[in-house]
Amino acid sequence: MINKNIPHFVIFDKFQKGGRYQDLLTHHILSDVALKCVGIADYTIEFVNKVNKGRLACLYYDEETHYISFSEKIVQARNSFFQSFPSALLQYCNDDSENKYLAYYILQPVGGSIVTDYHHFMYRLIKSVGTIFLNEEDMLNKPVIKFISYEDLILSKENIRKKNRSNKSTYVTKSDVGSLQIFSKVYGASKYESTLISLALYHISILPIVIYEIEEQGLIKLPEIARNYLLSLKRINIITSDIKQEEREYKENNSLRSPRYISNLLNKLGPKKCSLCDCDIPEIIQGAHIWPVSEIKKSQILSNTEKLNEAINGDNGIWLCQNHHKLFDSNLLILSNDKGLYYNNSLLEGGIDYLKDVTNIMVLPDEFYTDKFISYLEMRNLNIDQNNFSRFSIV
Ligand SMILES: [Zn+2]
Repeated sequence: MINKNIPHFVIFDKFQKGGRYQDLLTHHILSDVALKCVGIADYTIEFVNKVNKGRLACLYYDEETHYISFSEKIVQARNSFFQSFPSALLQYCNDDSENKYLAYYILQPVGGSIVTDYHHFMYRLIKSVGTIFLNEEDMLNKPVIKFISYEDLILSKENIRKKNRSNKSTYVTKSDVGSLQIFSKVYGASKYESTLISLALYHISILPIVIYEIEEQGLIKLPEIARNYLLSLKRINIITSDIKQEEREYKENNSLRSPRYISNLLNKLGPKKCSLCDCDIPEIIQGAHIWPVSEIKKSQILSNTEKLNEAINGDNGIWLCQNHHKLFDSNLLILSNDKGLYYNNSLLEGGIDYLKDVTNIMVLPDEFYTDKFISYLEMRNLNIDQNNFSRFSIV
């Protein structure tokens, strides 16, 4: 019998990972949660044996519903540590009741650290969607501060990317028309991170958001429950990457608007910033091809699929502002595989002075020059006579 005067827990999920829920959610923990949520340490409890509810308990008391997501107990792969929370978040979001609260409770971990930079990034996302942390002071080494803006989130994500370059992830940027773009992983544990990033951005920004689902391992879409909820929000649009459609468009036009290309550049280069002048106004930063798409198309030996793959390769591009992109594509500026930047001798002195004024990076970072990048540069410069160019002197 449910006693309405006592907080009542309904615990979903089998909590099978890392032990039975009876062992994980001890009396001590549950009374701590009840005390922190509603100020009463006493409670009644029932279990509902359902999976994929997000390590979730609901606490009902005095017309209030508290959704509590519990952290993983066993710390293994870092991104699977957070895969339950977005499920709990979506349960909460889809509840129409008025007095609802969302909380996160951190269990004492076994087997690894839960205070890495990556964990803090994820805690900040969790807090940014309005979650109350019930025991962060006890469990974490520093307070969790929600993101204050999309720039804050992008910068924080960049610090994670720098430390783990091989990890292709979900990236956020701002488009040339001022909307936020999310290049979303749809595979594995990362798809939960994508959902959380999307909802966090929705909370901290008033800008329109476009989510690009990036096809991976045959999966093309986010989980249906996440998708349906995201699409119910007025400012969010979702575009599914369609490789066949991209191939068709590429065959018919010389231009290429592939979300996969932008996603690959964000993975290799980080947030949008001109490689030659450091301008970081995202609306005027573009992905500039090294081996141009129109030249790739002329290849006699590559199939259409291979051509597209060269065109969207993250090594086949750098970020350039519109000014430098135009100068680069007009061959008034060229990059050489000796890592130097050269200007066209046909320019008048005033033009050269202007270029020197607006170009404060004369040598690109070493990490740009992968074997693949150098091979694209060779293809680009195949018909260029370097005698017609002079190297910018490094001041
Ligand atoms: Zn520039």
